[in-house]
Amino acid sequence: MMKKAAVKKSVMYTVDLTKIDGDGAFPCPKCGAVISPDDETEEIYQIVETKVKGTYLEELVLQCNKCGSIIRLVGFLQESEG
Ligand SMILES: [Zn+2]
Repeated sequence: MMKKAAVKKSVMYTVDLTKIDGDGAFPCPKCGAVISPDDETEEIYQIVETKVKGTYLEELVLQCNKCGSIIRLVGFLQESEG
């Protein structure tokens, strides 16, 4: 029996960490839940995907547990040019 995959459009937001002051915590663009990178409880968000470039974290994809939004985090430490 084949189950039809539910085509659910998740809204994806992109958050640029270089535009965030402080310790990197930011409110969910949709529901306003504060997402802190130091929060490892997974109560507020969970990590969906981690993209690493070399030894640097390039991109982090999170899902807000409160509203289900997908949040793409960009703007981590960047390699200096040259
Ligand atoms: Zn949210």
